Amino acid sequence: MDFTKLAEFLFPDVTLTPEKLEELYPKRDLPEGAIVSRMAPSPTGFVHLGNLVQGLTSERLSHQSGGVLFLRVEDTDSKREVAGAVETLITSLKHYNIIFDEGATIDGDSGAYGPYRQRVRKDIYHVYAKKLVAEGKAYPCFCTEEELAAIHAEQEAEKVNFGYYGKWAKYRDASFETIEANIEAGMPWVLRFRSEGSIEHKIKFTDLIKGNLELTENDIDHVLLKSDGIPTYHFAHAVDDHLMRTTHVVRGDEWLPSLPFHLQLFAALGWKPPKYLHIGTLMKMDGESKRKLSKRKDPELALTFYQEIGYPVEAVYEYLLTILNSNFEDWRRANPFASTDEFKFSYKKMNPAGSLFDTDKLRDVSKDVLSKMTADKVYALAVEWAEQYDRDFYEKLTACPDYAKQILAIGRGGKKPRKDFAVFSELKPYMAFFYDDWFKIEAEMPAFDKAEILGVLRDYAALYDESDDQTAWFDKVRALAERHGFCPDTKTYKANPDAYKGHVGDVSMMLRVAVTGRQNSPDLYEVMRILGKEKVLQRLSNAEETL
Ligand code: GLU
Repeated sequence: MDFTKLAEFLFPDVTLTPEKLEELYPKRDLPEGAIVSRMAPSPTGFVHLGNLVQGLTSERLSHQSGGVLFLRVEDTDSKREVAGAVETLITSLKHYNIIFDEGATIDGDSGAYGPYRQRVRKDIYHVYAKKLVAEGKAYPCFCTEEELAAIHAEQEAEKVNFGYYGKWAKYRDASFETIEANIEAGMPWVLRFRSEGSIEHKIKFTDLIKGNLELTENDIDHVLLKSDGIPTYHFAHAVDDHLMRTTHVVRGDEWLPSLPFHLQLFAALGWKPPKYLHIGTLMKMDGESKRKLSKRKDPELALTFYQEIGYPVEAVYEYLLTILNSNFEDWRRANPFASTDEFKFSYKKMNPAGSLFDTDKLRDVSKDVLSKMTADKVYALAVEWAEQYDRDFYEKLTACPDYAKQILAIGRGGKKPRKDFAVFSELKPYMAFFYDDWFKIEAEMPAFDKAEILGVLRDYAALYDESDDQTAWFDKVRALAERHGFCPDTKTYKANPDAYKGHVGDVSMMLRVAVTGRQNSPDLYEVMRILGKEKVLQRLSNAEETL
Protein backbone atom coordinates (compact mmCIF):
# COMPACT_ATOMS: atom_id res chain seq x y z
CA MET A 1 0.00 0.00 0.00
CA ASP A 2 1.22 3.47 -0.87
CA PHE A 3 0.54 5.24 2.43
CA THR A 4 1.60 8.63 1.15
CA LYS A 5 -1.00 8.37 -1.58
CA LEU A 6 -3.60 7.34 1.00
CA ALA A 7 -2.69 10.29 3.22
CA GLU A 8 -3.05 12.69 0.28
CA PHE A 9 -6.35 11.11 -0.66
CA LEU A 10 -7.79 11.31 2.87
CA PHE A 11 -6.48 14.77 3.73
CA PRO A 12 -6.18 16.67 0.44
CA ASP A 13 -6.69 20.06 2.10
CA VAL A 14 -3.97 19.72 4.70
CA THR A 15 -1.10 21.94 3.63
CA LEU A 16 0.40 22.79 7.01
CA THR A 17 3.25 20.53 8.03
CA PRO A 18 4.54 19.17 11.32
CA GLU A 19 7.77 21.11 10.73
CA LYS A 20 5.85 24.36 10.36
CA LEU A 21 3.93 23.65 13.56
CA GLU A 22 7.18 23.01 15.43
CA GLU A 23 8.27 26.46 14.32
CA LEU A 24 4.99 28.08 15.27
CA TYR A 25 5.03 26.56 18.74
CA PRO A 26 8.67 26.52 19.74
CA LYS A 27 10.06 25.11 22.93
CA ARG A 28 9.30 27.51 25.76
CA ASP A 29 12.09 29.66 27.02
CA LEU A 30 11.93 28.83 30.70
CA PRO A 31 14.50 28.22 33.41
CA GLU A 32 15.68 24.66 34.08
CA GLY A 33 13.13 22.73 36.12
CA ALA A 34 10.21 25.02 35.32
CA ILE A 35 7.02 23.00 35.04
CA VAL A 36 4.49 23.70 32.32
CA SER A 37 1.15 22.26 33.27
CA ARG A 38 -2.43 22.71 32.37
CA MET A 39 -6.00 22.17 33.27
CA ALA A 40 -7.88 20.56 30.45
CA PRO A 41 -11.47 20.19 31.55
CA SER A 42 -14.44 19.36 29.40
CA PRO A 43 -17.08 22.11 29.52
CA THR A 44 -19.92 20.07 31.00
CA GLY A 45 -21.10 22.84 33.32
CA PHE A 46 -20.37 20.79 36.41
CA VAL A 47 -17.27 21.94 38.24
CA HIS A 48 -16.35 19.51 40.96
CA LEU A 49 -13.88 18.96 43.71
CA GLY A 50 -11.84 16.69 41.43
CA ASN A 51 -11.32 19.63 39.06
CA LEU A 52 -10.14 21.74 41.95
CA VAL A 53 -7.79 19.05 43.24
CA GLN A 54 -6.28 18.69 39.81
CA GLY A 55 -6.18 22.45 39.25
CA LEU A 56 -4.57 23.14 42.59
CA THR A 57 -1.92 20.48 42.03
CA SER A 58 -1.04 21.74 38.56
CA GLU A 59 -1.13 25.33 39.73
CA ARG A 60 1.20 24.78 42.66
CA LEU A 61 3.66 22.68 40.67
CA SER A 62 3.89 25.11 37.78
CA HIS A 63 3.92 28.35 39.71
CA GLN A 64 6.24 27.14 42.44
CA SER A 65 8.76 26.10 39.82
CA GLY A 66 8.59 29.37 37.89
CA GLY A 67 6.70 27.65 35.08
CA VAL A 68 3.42 28.17 33.30
CA LEU A 69 -0.15 27.09 33.93
CA PHE A 70 -2.65 27.24 31.10
CA LEU A 71 -6.27 26.39 30.56
CA ARG A 72 -7.29 24.28 27.61
CA VAL A 73 -10.93 23.61 26.93
CA GLU A 74 -11.50 20.03 25.83
CA ASP A 75 -14.71 20.52 23.92
CA THR A 76 -14.42 17.67 21.43
CA ASP A 77 -17.54 16.02 22.77
CA SER A 78 -20.23 18.48 21.76
CA LYS A 79 -22.98 16.24 23.14
CA ARG A 80 -21.76 16.84 26.68
CA GLU A 81 -21.25 20.55 26.27
CA VAL A 82 -23.44 22.99 28.17
CA ALA A 83 -23.83 26.67 27.24
CA GLY A 84 -21.90 28.99 29.53
CA ALA A 85 -19.83 26.12 30.92
CA VAL A 86 -16.48 27.71 30.08
CA GLU A 87 -17.42 30.87 31.95
CA THR A 88 -18.60 28.85 34.95
CA LEU A 89 -15.37 26.94 34.92
CA ILE A 90 -13.13 29.98 34.72
CA THR A 91 -15.03 31.90 37.41
CA SER A 92 -15.15 28.92 39.79
CA LEU A 93 -11.44 28.30 39.47
CA LYS A 94 -10.61 31.96 39.85
CA HIS A 95 -12.67 31.98 43.02
CA TYR A 96 -10.21 29.41 44.38
CA ASN A 97 -7.16 31.37 43.23
CA ILE A 98 -6.39 29.10 40.35
CA ILE A 99 -5.21 31.78 37.98
CA PHE A 100 -3.97 30.86 34.54
CA ASP A 101 -1.03 32.44 32.80
CA GLU A 102 -2.48 31.68 29.41
CA GLY A 103 -5.25 29.79 27.70
CA ALA A 104 -8.98 30.12 27.30
CA THR A 105 -10.46 33.17 29.02
CA ILE A 106 -13.98 34.52 29.22
CA ASP A 107 -13.18 36.94 26.41
CA GLY A 108 -11.40 34.52 24.11
CA ASP A 109 -7.92 33.07 24.10
CA SER A 110 -4.75 34.58 25.45
CA GLY A 111 -1.24 33.23 24.87
CA ALA A 112 1.17 32.20 22.15
CA TYR A 113 0.40 28.48 22.18
CA GLY A 114 -3.27 28.66 21.23
CA PRO A 115 -5.91 28.28 20.13
CA TYR A 116 -6.80 26.72 23.46
CA ARG A 117 -10.19 25.26 22.57
CA GLN A 118 -9.92 21.93 20.88
CA ARG A 119 -12.75 22.31 18.41
CA VAL A 120 -10.92 25.27 16.87
CA ARG A 121 -7.76 23.18 16.49
CA LYS A 122 -9.18 20.73 13.96
CA ASP A 123 -6.71 21.75 11.23
CA ILE A 124 -3.80 21.13 13.55
CA TYR A 125 -4.93 17.60 14.43
CA HIS A 126 -5.37 16.83 10.76
CA VAL A 127 -1.72 17.62 10.07
CA TYR A 128 -0.72 14.81 12.40
CA ALA A 129 -3.52 12.52 11.28
CA LYS A 130 -2.16 12.87 7.77
CA LYS A 131 1.39 12.23 8.95
CA LEU A 132 0.34 9.05 10.78
CA VAL A 133 -1.51 7.78 7.71
CA ALA A 134 1.49 8.58 5.49
CA GLU A 135 3.65 6.48 7.81
CA GLY A 136 1.19 3.58 7.87
CA LYS A 137 0.35 4.24 11.53
CA ALA A 138 -3.31 5.10 11.07
CA TYR A 139 -6.06 4.07 8.68
CA PRO A 140 -9.70 4.80 7.91
CA CYS A 141 -12.37 2.46 9.22
CA PHE A 142 -15.88 2.32 7.79
CA CYS A 143 -17.53 0.07 10.34
CA THR A 144 -21.07 1.05 11.18
CA GLU A 145 -22.53 0.97 14.70
CA GLU A 146 -24.25 -2.28 13.76
CA GLU A 147 -21.03 -3.88 12.58
CA LEU A 148 -19.26 -2.86 15.75
CA ALA A 149 -22.12 -4.27 17.81
CA ALA A 150 -21.90 -7.51 15.85
CA ILE A 151 -18.14 -7.73 16.53
CA HIS A 152 -18.86 -7.16 20.21
CA ALA A 153 -21.45 -9.93 20.25
CA GLU A 154 -19.09 -12.37 18.55
CA GLN A 155 -16.32 -11.51 20.99
CA GLU A 156 -18.72 -12.14 23.83
CA ALA A 157 -19.63 -15.53 22.39
CA GLU A 158 -15.96 -16.44 21.91
CA LYS A 159 -15.11 -15.13 25.39
CA VAL A 160 -12.28 -12.97 24.11
CA ASN A 161 -11.40 -9.34 24.90
CA PHE A 162 -13.67 -6.71 23.47
CA GLY A 163 -12.47 -4.08 21.05
CA TYR A 164 -11.23 -3.37 17.58
CA TYR A 165 -7.96 -5.28 17.28
CA GLY A 166 -6.20 -8.08 15.44
CA LYS A 167 -8.53 -10.17 13.31
CA TRP A 168 -11.50 -8.07 14.42
CA ALA A 169 -10.03 -4.96 12.92
CA LYS A 170 -11.87 -5.29 9.68
CA TYR A 171 -10.42 -2.29 7.84
CA ARG A 172 -6.88 -2.49 9.18
CA ASP A 173 -5.59 -3.86 5.93
CA ALA A 174 -8.21 -2.58 3.50
CA SER A 175 -6.82 -1.82 0.06
CA PHE A 176 -6.57 1.67 -1.37
CA GLU A 177 -9.25 0.75 -3.89
CA THR A 178 -11.72 -0.30 -1.19
CA ILE A 179 -11.06 2.87 0.76
CA GLU A 180 -11.37 5.02 -2.32
CA ALA A 181 -14.62 3.36 -3.37
CA ASN A 182 -16.15 3.63 0.09
CA ILE A 183 -15.28 7.29 0.42
CA GLU A 184 -16.57 8.04 -3.06
CA ALA A 185 -19.77 6.24 -2.14
CA GLY A 186 -20.08 8.70 0.76
CA MET A 187 -19.57 6.15 3.54
CA PRO A 188 -18.69 7.82 6.83
CA TRP A 189 -15.33 6.87 8.30
CA VAL A 190 -13.24 7.31 11.40
CA LEU A 191 -9.48 7.32 11.57
CA ARG A 192 -7.99 4.54 13.67
CA PHE A 193 -4.56 4.07 15.16
CA ARG A 194 -2.73 1.00 13.90
CA SER A 195 -1.53 -0.54 17.13
CA GLU A 196 1.57 -2.70 17.03
CA GLY A 197 1.12 -3.63 20.66
CA SER A 198 0.24 -6.95 22.20
CA ILE A 199 -1.46 -7.82 25.46
CA GLU A 200 1.28 -10.38 25.94
CA HIS A 201 3.69 -7.53 26.63
CA LYS A 202 4.05 -5.35 29.66
CA ILE A 203 5.41 -1.85 29.70
CA LYS A 204 7.21 -0.25 32.59
CA PHE A 205 6.29 3.27 33.45
CA THR A 206 6.96 5.69 36.28
CA ASP A 207 4.08 7.89 37.24
CA LEU A 208 5.14 10.75 39.51
CA ILE A 209 2.36 10.03 41.99
CA LYS A 210 1.67 6.34 41.52
CA GLY A 211 5.32 5.34 41.30
CA ASN A 212 6.65 2.48 39.17
CA LEU A 213 3.93 0.76 37.23
CA GLU A 214 3.79 -2.23 34.98
CA LEU A 215 1.00 -1.94 32.46
CA THR A 216 -0.27 -4.17 29.72
CA GLU A 217 0.52 -2.91 26.25
CA ASN A 218 -2.35 -1.63 24.16
CA ASP A 219 -3.40 -3.76 21.20
CA ILE A 220 -6.58 -1.88 20.29
CA ASP A 221 -6.81 0.22 17.15
CA HIS A 222 -8.42 3.14 18.93
CA VAL A 223 -10.20 5.95 17.14
CA LEU A 224 -8.12 9.08 16.56
CA LEU A 225 -10.58 11.13 14.53
CA LYS A 226 -14.33 10.74 14.72
CA SER A 227 -16.43 10.74 11.55
CA ASP A 228 -16.86 14.53 11.75
CA GLY A 229 -13.08 14.93 11.75
CA ILE A 230 -13.00 15.94 15.42
CA PRO A 231 -10.33 14.09 17.43
CA THR A 232 -10.87 11.90 20.44
CA TYR A 233 -9.42 13.01 23.76
CA HIS A 234 -6.50 10.61 23.37
CA PHE A 235 -5.27 12.02 20.09
CA ALA A 236 -6.07 15.63 20.92
CA HIS A 237 -4.28 15.61 24.25
CA ALA A 238 -1.12 14.13 22.73
CA VAL A 239 -1.02 16.76 19.98
CA ASP A 240 -1.90 19.61 22.31
CA ASP A 241 0.39 18.70 25.15
CA HIS A 242 3.24 18.36 22.69
CA LEU A 243 2.62 21.63 20.85
CA MET A 244 1.75 23.55 24.01
CA ARG A 245 5.00 22.25 25.45
CA THR A 246 3.40 20.74 28.54
CA THR A 247 6.03 19.14 30.76
CA HIS A 248 3.69 17.63 33.38
CA VAL A 249 0.19 16.25 32.85
CA VAL A 250 -1.78 16.13 36.08
CA ARG A 251 -5.05 14.27 35.66
CA GLY A 252 -7.44 11.85 37.33
CA ASP A 253 -6.39 8.23 37.53
CA GLU A 254 -9.41 7.19 35.49
CA TRP A 255 -7.02 7.90 32.60
CA LEU A 256 -4.43 5.40 33.74
CA PRO A 257 -5.87 2.52 31.69
CA SER A 258 -5.47 4.69 28.56
CA LEU A 259 -1.86 5.48 29.32
CA PRO A 260 -0.33 2.58 27.31
CA PHE A 261 -2.19 3.87 24.28
CA HIS A 262 -1.08 7.44 24.97
CA LEU A 263 2.54 6.36 25.21
CA GLN A 264 2.19 4.52 21.90
CA LEU A 265 0.77 7.66 20.36
CA PHE A 266 3.64 9.83 21.52
CA ALA A 267 6.09 7.26 20.18
CA ALA A 268 4.26 7.04 16.85
CA LEU A 269 4.30 10.81 16.53
CA GLY A 270 8.01 10.86 17.35
CA TRP A 271 7.63 12.88 20.53
CA LYS A 272 8.86 12.59 24.06
CA PRO A 273 5.79 12.17 26.30
CA PRO A 274 5.28 14.59 29.17
CA LYS A 275 5.63 13.38 32.74
CA TYR A 276 2.35 12.07 34.07
CA LEU A 277 0.83 12.49 37.51
CA HIS A 278 -2.32 10.46 37.96
CA ILE A 279 -4.29 11.62 41.00
CA GLY A 280 -6.26 9.00 42.90
CA THR A 281 -10.02 9.50 43.05
CA LEU A 282 -11.46 11.34 46.02
CA MET A 283 -13.08 8.88 48.39
CA LYS A 284 -15.35 9.24 51.37
CA MET A 285 -16.41 6.98 54.19
CA ASP A 286 -19.85 5.53 53.79
CA GLY A 287 -20.56 3.66 56.97
CA GLU A 288 -17.62 1.32 57.44
CA SER A 289 -16.41 1.34 53.86
CA LYS A 290 -14.77 3.80 51.53
CA ARG A 291 -16.30 4.75 48.24
CA LYS A 292 -15.80 7.28 45.46
CA LEU A 293 -17.52 10.62 45.82
CA SER A 294 -20.48 10.48 43.51
CA LYS A 295 -22.21 13.26 41.63
CA ARG A 296 -25.60 11.74 42.33
CA LYS A 297 -25.22 10.96 46.02
CA ASP A 298 -22.82 13.59 47.33
CA PRO A 299 -23.73 17.27 47.03
CA GLU A 300 -20.28 18.07 48.43
CA LEU A 301 -18.71 16.99 45.16
CA ALA A 302 -19.95 20.14 43.41
CA LEU A 303 -17.94 23.30 44.02
CA THR A 304 -21.11 25.37 44.20
CA PHE A 305 -21.92 23.51 47.43
CA TYR A 306 -19.02 25.21 49.24
CA GLN A 307 -19.93 28.61 47.95
CA GLU A 308 -23.59 28.32 48.86
CA ILE A 309 -23.03 27.06 52.37
CA GLY A 310 -20.35 29.71 52.81
CA TYR A 311 -16.97 28.09 53.27
CA PRO A 312 -14.30 30.71 52.84
CA VAL A 313 -12.12 30.02 49.84
CA GLU A 314 -9.05 29.90 52.05
CA ALA A 315 -10.59 27.10 54.11
CA VAL A 316 -11.40 24.84 51.18
CA TYR A 317 -7.98 25.55 49.74
CA GLU A 318 -6.24 24.84 53.02
CA TYR A 319 -8.26 21.67 53.52
CA LEU A 320 -7.34 20.42 50.08
CA LEU A 321 -3.68 21.00 50.90
CA THR A 322 -4.09 18.90 54.04
CA ILE A 323 -5.45 15.99 52.06
CA LEU A 324 -3.10 16.39 49.12
CA ASN A 325 0.22 16.71 50.89
CA SER A 326 0.87 14.47 53.89
CA ASN A 327 3.28 16.97 55.48
CA PHE A 328 0.98 19.98 55.20
CA GLU A 329 -0.52 19.70 58.68
CA ASP A 330 2.89 19.54 60.33
CA TRP A 331 3.95 22.55 58.33
CA ARG A 332 0.81 24.39 59.39
CA ARG A 333 1.43 23.62 63.04
CA ALA A 334 4.95 24.98 62.74
CA ASN A 335 3.78 28.02 60.74
CA PRO A 336 0.32 28.83 62.05
CA PHE A 337 0.03 32.21 60.40
CA ALA A 338 2.05 31.76 57.22
CA SER A 339 0.42 32.10 53.82
CA THR A 340 -0.21 28.78 52.09
CA ASP A 341 1.90 30.15 49.21
CA GLU A 342 4.93 29.57 51.40
CA PHE A 343 4.23 25.86 51.71
CA LYS A 344 6.37 23.80 49.37
CA PHE A 345 3.82 21.64 47.60
CA SER A 346 5.25 18.36 46.39
CA TYR A 347 3.84 15.52 44.35
CA LYS A 348 6.06 13.21 46.38
CA LYS A 349 3.79 13.83 49.36
CA MET A 350 0.65 12.80 47.52
CA ASN A 351 -1.12 9.60 48.36
CA PRO A 352 -0.99 7.23 45.35
CA ALA A 353 -4.25 5.65 46.45
CA GLY A 354 -6.11 8.96 46.53
CA SER A 355 -7.37 11.10 49.37
CA LEU A 356 -10.18 10.63 51.78
CA PHE A 357 -12.60 13.51 51.89
CA ASP A 358 -14.00 14.21 55.33
CA THR A 359 -16.49 17.00 55.98
CA ASP A 360 -15.82 17.09 59.73
CA LYS A 361 -12.19 17.70 59.07
CA LEU A 362 -13.03 20.37 56.52
CA ARG A 363 -15.19 22.08 59.13
CA ASP A 364 -12.36 21.99 61.66
CA VAL A 365 -9.96 23.47 59.16
CA SER A 366 -12.50 26.12 58.26
CA LYS A 367 -13.08 27.08 61.90
CA ASP A 368 -9.38 27.37 62.32
CA VAL A 369 -8.90 29.47 59.22
CA LEU A 370 -11.79 31.76 60.17
CA SER A 371 -10.53 32.14 63.73
CA LYS A 372 -7.20 33.45 62.47
CA MET A 373 -8.70 36.10 60.21
CA THR A 374 -9.15 39.68 61.35
CA ALA A 375 -12.69 40.81 62.15
CA ASP A 376 -12.52 43.14 59.15
CA LYS A 377 -11.72 40.27 56.84
CA VAL A 378 -14.45 38.03 58.24
CA TYR A 379 -16.83 40.94 57.91
CA ALA A 380 -15.91 41.56 54.27
CA LEU A 381 -16.24 37.88 53.36
CA ALA A 382 -19.50 37.50 55.26
CA VAL A 383 -20.97 40.52 53.47
CA GLU A 384 -19.89 39.10 50.13
CA TRP A 385 -21.48 35.77 50.96
CA ALA A 386 -24.68 37.21 52.43
CA GLU A 387 -25.19 39.55 49.51
CA GLN A 388 -25.70 36.51 47.34
CA TYR A 389 -27.21 33.97 49.70
CA ASP A 390 -28.97 35.74 52.60
CA ARG A 391 -30.29 39.20 51.83
CA ASP A 392 -31.78 39.67 55.26
CA PHE A 393 -28.44 39.05 56.91
CA TYR A 394 -26.74 41.25 54.31
CA GLU A 395 -29.00 44.19 55.21
CA LYS A 396 -28.19 43.76 58.90
CA LEU A 397 -24.45 43.49 58.35
CA THR A 398 -24.24 46.51 56.11
CA ALA A 399 -26.68 48.72 58.04
CA CYS A 400 -24.12 49.11 60.80
CA PRO A 401 -20.70 47.77 59.81
CA ASP A 402 -18.93 48.88 62.98
CA TYR A 403 -21.42 47.08 65.19
CA ALA A 404 -21.04 43.87 63.15
CA LYS A 405 -17.26 44.14 63.25
CA GLN A 406 -17.25 44.58 67.00
CA ILE A 407 -19.28 41.38 67.31
CA LEU A 408 -16.91 39.57 65.00
CA ALA A 409 -13.93 40.86 66.96
CA ILE A 410 -14.96 39.04 70.16
CA GLY A 411 -12.37 36.46 71.13
CA ARG A 412 -10.16 37.19 68.15
CA GLY A 413 -6.46 37.92 68.06
CA GLY A 414 -5.32 36.01 71.15
CA LYS A 415 -3.41 32.76 71.42
CA LYS A 416 -6.59 30.71 71.51
CA PRO A 417 -9.07 32.48 69.30
CA ARG A 418 -12.73 31.50 69.47
CA LYS A 419 -13.98 29.04 66.88
CA ASP A 420 -17.69 29.60 66.80
CA PHE A 421 -18.55 28.95 63.19
CA ALA A 422 -17.22 27.02 60.23
CA VAL A 423 -19.25 28.54 57.42
CA PHE A 424 -20.92 31.88 56.78
CA SER A 425 -24.37 30.32 56.89
CA GLU A 426 -23.70 29.64 60.60
CA LEU A 427 -22.80 33.23 61.26
CA LYS A 428 -26.31 34.64 61.34
CA PRO A 429 -27.49 32.21 64.05
CA TYR A 430 -24.29 32.97 65.96
CA MET A 431 -24.69 36.75 65.75
CA ALA A 432 -28.49 36.90 65.82
CA PHE A 433 -28.94 37.74 69.51
CA PHE A 434 -27.09 41.02 69.01
CA TYR A 435 -29.92 42.27 66.86
CA ASP A 436 -33.22 43.13 68.55
CA ASP A 437 -35.42 41.82 65.74
CA TRP A 438 -33.77 38.44 65.96
CA PHE A 439 -33.23 38.30 69.69
CA LYS A 440 -35.39 35.99 71.75
CA ILE A 441 -34.91 34.06 74.95
CA GLU A 442 -34.32 30.56 73.73
CA ALA A 443 -32.71 29.04 76.81
CA GLU A 444 -34.00 28.11 80.23
CA MET A 445 -33.05 30.20 83.23
CA PRO A 446 -31.15 28.27 85.90
CA ALA A 447 -33.59 26.44 88.18
CA PHE A 448 -34.20 29.00 90.95
CA ASP A 449 -37.30 30.70 92.23
CA LYS A 450 -38.72 33.38 90.04
CA ALA A 451 -38.36 35.87 92.89
CA GLU A 452 -34.70 34.95 93.28
CA ILE A 453 -33.95 35.53 89.60
CA LEU A 454 -35.97 38.70 89.55
CA GLY A 455 -33.99 40.00 92.51
CA VAL A 456 -30.69 39.30 90.79
CA LEU A 457 -31.74 40.87 87.49
CA ARG A 458 -33.10 44.00 89.11
CA ASP A 459 -30.17 44.44 91.40
CA TYR A 460 -27.79 44.03 88.49
CA ALA A 461 -29.67 46.52 86.34
CA ALA A 462 -29.21 49.08 89.08
CA LEU A 463 -25.47 48.60 89.34
CA TYR A 464 -24.49 47.99 85.70
CA ASP A 465 -21.93 50.55 84.66
CA GLU A 466 -20.79 50.66 81.06
CA SER A 467 -17.46 52.18 81.96
CA ASP A 468 -16.36 49.26 84.14
CA ASP A 469 -13.41 47.33 82.85
CA GLN A 470 -13.50 43.55 82.78
CA THR A 471 -12.17 43.16 86.33
CA ALA A 472 -14.53 45.71 87.81
CA TRP A 473 -17.35 44.13 85.85
CA PHE A 474 -16.65 40.69 87.22
CA ASP A 475 -16.09 41.93 90.77
CA LYS A 476 -19.55 43.40 90.64
CA VAL A 477 -21.07 40.12 89.48
CA ARG A 478 -19.30 38.35 92.34
CA ALA A 479 -20.51 40.89 94.86
CA LEU A 480 -23.99 40.57 93.44
CA ALA A 481 -23.83 36.82 93.86
CA GLU A 482 -22.72 37.12 97.43
CA ARG A 483 -25.43 39.62 98.28
CA HIS A 484 -28.03 37.17 97.06
CA GLY A 485 -26.65 34.19 98.96
CA PHE A 486 -24.61 32.64 96.12
CA CYS A 487 -21.01 31.68 96.64
CA PRO A 488 -18.72 34.16 94.78
CA ASP A 489 -16.26 31.44 93.98
CA THR A 490 -16.92 28.00 92.52
CA LYS A 491 -14.15 26.17 94.35
CA THR A 492 -15.36 27.31 97.76
CA TYR A 493 -18.86 26.41 96.73
CA LYS A 494 -17.88 22.88 95.77
CA ALA A 495 -16.23 22.35 99.14
CA ASN A 496 -19.40 23.32 100.94
CA PRO A 497 -22.43 23.48 98.65
CA ASP A 498 -25.03 23.37 101.39
CA ALA A 499 -23.92 26.70 102.71
CA TYR A 500 -25.11 28.56 99.59
CA LYS A 501 -28.05 28.81 97.23
CA GLY A 502 -25.67 28.30 94.37
CA HIS A 503 -22.53 29.92 93.02
CA VAL A 504 -21.46 32.86 90.92
CA GLY A 505 -21.85 30.79 87.75
CA ASP A 506 -25.58 30.54 88.39
CA VAL A 507 -25.85 34.26 88.74
CA SER A 508 -23.88 34.89 85.54
CA MET A 509 -26.12 32.39 83.83
CA MET A 510 -29.20 34.35 84.83
CA LEU A 511 -27.64 37.46 83.35
CA ARG A 512 -26.48 35.59 80.27
CA VAL A 513 -29.87 34.11 79.53
CA ALA A 514 -31.54 37.48 80.03
CA VAL A 515 -29.10 39.38 77.84
CA THR A 516 -28.25 36.83 75.12
CA GLY A 517 -31.23 34.48 75.33
CA ARG A 518 -28.78 31.57 75.44
CA GLN A 519 -26.82 29.53 77.92
CA ASN A 520 -23.79 29.63 75.64
CA SER A 521 -22.45 32.88 74.39
CA PRO A 522 -19.18 34.64 73.93
CA ASP A 523 -17.73 36.53 76.86
CA LEU A 524 -20.63 38.28 78.59
CA TYR A 525 -18.65 41.37 79.51
CA GLU A 526 -17.78 41.87 75.82
CA VAL A 527 -21.32 41.15 74.77
CA MET A 528 -22.74 43.76 77.14
CA ARG A 529 -20.16 46.31 76.10
CA ILE A 530 -21.11 45.89 72.45
CA LEU A 531 -24.84 45.87 73.09
CA GLY A 532 -24.57 49.10 75.06
CA LYS A 533 -26.23 50.09 78.31
CA GLU A 534 -29.62 50.84 76.87
CA LYS A 535 -30.05 47.41 75.31
CA VAL A 536 -28.63 45.62 78.33
CA LEU A 537 -31.09 47.31 80.66
CA GLN A 538 -33.95 46.75 78.28
CA ARG A 539 -33.19 43.06 78.05
CA LEU A 540 -32.78 42.67 81.79
CA SER A 541 -36.18 44.19 82.25
CA ASN A 542 -37.84 42.32 79.35
CA ALA A 543 -36.54 39.05 80.75
CA GLU A 544 -38.81 39.50 83.75
CA GLU A 545 -41.80 38.82 81.52
CA THR A 546 -40.49 35.45 80.50
CA LEU A 547 -40.01 34.22 84.03
N1 GLU B 1 -10.74 16.46 29.37
C1 GLU B 1 -10.17 15.50 30.26
C2 GLU B 1 -11.04 15.41 31.50
O1 GLU B 1 -11.81 16.33 31.73
C3 GLU B 1 -8.80 15.97 30.62
C4 GLU B 1 -7.89 15.00 31.21
C5 GLU B 1 -6.51 15.65 31.19
O2 GLU B 1 -6.26 16.52 32.03
O3 GLU B 1 -5.71 15.33 30.32
O4 GLU B 1 -10.99 14.46 32.22
